[in-house]
Amino acid sequence: MSNALFNLPTTYNEPVLSYAKGSPEREQLVAALKALKAKKVDIPMYIGGKEVFTSEKVDIRPPHELKHKLGTYNKGESKHVRQAIQAALRAKSSWESMPWQDRAAIFLRAADLLSGPYRATMNAATMLGQSKNVFQAEIDAVAEWCDFLRFNAQFMQDLYMDQPISDPGIWNRMEYRALEGFVFALSPFNFTSIAGNLSCAPALMGNTVVWKPAETQIYSAQIIMQVLMEAGLPDGVINLIFVEGKTAGDVIFSHPDFAGLHFTGSTGVFRKLWQTIGDNLSIYKSYPRIVGETGGKDFVIAHPSADAEAVAVALARGAFEYQGQKCSAASRAYIPESLWPAIKKRLTADLATMKMGSPEKFENFINAVIDEKAFDKITSYISQAKKDKGVKILAGGKFDKSQGYFIEPTVIQVNDPNYVTMCEELFGPVLTLYVYKDADYKKVLTLLDKTSPYALTGAVFAIDREAINMTSEKLKHSAGNFYINDKPTGAVVGQQPFGGGRASGTNDKAGSIMNLYRWVSARTIKENFNPPKDYRYPFMG
Ligand code: NAD
Repeated sequence: MSNALFNLPTTYNEPVLSYAKGSPEREQLVAALKALKAKKVDIPMYIGGKEVFTSEKVDIRPPHELKHKLGTYNKGESKHVRQAIQAALRAKSSWESMPWQDRAAIFLRAADLLSGPYRATMNAATMLGQSKNVFQAEIDAVAEWCDFLRFNAQFMQDLYMDQPISDPGIWNRMEYRALEGFVFALSPFNFTSIAGNLSCAPALMGNTVVWKPAETQIYSAQIIMQVLMEAGLPDGVINLIFVEGKTAGDVIFSHPDFAGLHFTGSTGVFRKLWQTIGDNLSIYKSYPRIVGETGGKDFVIAHPSADAEAVAVALARGAFEYQGQKCSAASRAYIPESLWPAIKKRLTADLATMKMGSPEKFENFINAVIDEKAFDKITSYISQAKKDKGVKILAGGKFDKSQGYFIEPTVIQVNDPNYVTMCEELFGPVLTLYVYKDADYKKVLTLLDKTSPYALTGAVFAIDREAINMTSEKLKHSAGNFYINDKPTGAVVGQQPFGGGRASGTNDKAGSIMNLYRWVSARTIKENFNPPKDYRYPFMG
């Protein structure tokens, strides 16, 4: 029983460590990588706080070192989905009635465990399982997940403090109840932090969750679960299952207590899920909340007044960090003819210095793409581009899957600004460029806006302020996260709330109060201190 209104500890962005040679964090990380590689894990599902093993073991291997086995995970079936739903519903009443400061404390403790004792292991698991170099692992699995956990606690308090006004003699209140039922968190492979946030954000608001990660993220998903359990998350609040997407969907979307979907992944999958939910609407006890952050075809446009070096560096980082497997990765660029020679020179020179290989070797900037399906898809576009007229491969273009799924950072120049790789999401290390005549800048803005169905991130590079303003206005709906003289990747929780419109999602801005509003159903309470004793109004006299 608490009789005070508590303040949360001051929220801050988790510092990103350098991992420079000789630093203590680098030593700890090297030891963690060694330890993980020396053992074979057998990862269970977690249902109602219990570890669940099955007879179907699936191998887990680093995408960059296919001959090495990290261990196995236990694949489940329909009955495990049903068990996870039952566990979530059982845990619901005590969890939603737990005081908010206790829920906050669990997730704040999780952030401290992550930034402290779990840091090296979490980074090592993300590096090995998802083929991220140490910097990419650190900004994702540690820094961003810590930020989601800490900032969301603050946003929860801010949200609860949003209260209506009251006339004299009346007290109006808003109570932010959890949704009635359970929430389904469905996460992608590319960010460990997103997996953590999709499950934890609804849970923080008092919901209980069934969480299905992408198969290729299970290795780090297990560490998420360990952190949460050590932080004191009660059994059944988050239930982690490893089943086929369709197996989960078939059970979950036909359950009357399904109350919300927290999804990040591809646009095609999201549309299918939304359609199924719509078709099944009459089954549900309430209207399910649907939150989905999906694909992108993120742009960089350089104005003739831009700084050519800044553009080239933004393209090198924005398009190729984590092998272009960020929803925000720059994948199409529009470059003015006058700046093209300088940008081309710098970009191709930088790409020539990028080393590719295992993330265990710290000099490698580029690692492997996530799996064979992604490798085959991305390389089919590159192979086709090699054959097509009006298309030039300016850099990279080679690939090899004998040891791991390696694709060179590839730059394609096209004569046709509507060429397929300017329009479709490839989700790999491929950047397509269109060089335009300087005088056509305005026309290119219209073209850019119409080229793809997505509207996730985009960047303009210009010194001319009028050009910046005009671009920002013309591209108002072309990106949910718009950057001026910066690369379109690397959004930080609390600083650049993240999400896109059009085919890129519901734009509920992960890591912001807007997202948390989706996981509550408010109850308005009016209390009258002086209830009327006569039905007649004065005007009747
Ligand atoms: P994906 O759509 O293939 O998978 C996402 C999740 O859905 C996985 O857990 C998968 O197993 C599951 N799934 C797939 N088919 C399903 C089905 N029929 N029924 C139920 N579940 C199903 O996405 P991915 O390849 O893991 O991730 C890459 C995609 O995610 C890219 O399109 C990228 O742009 C997007 N993404 C978007 C954001 C954002 O914030 N907008 C962030 C990260 C990734």
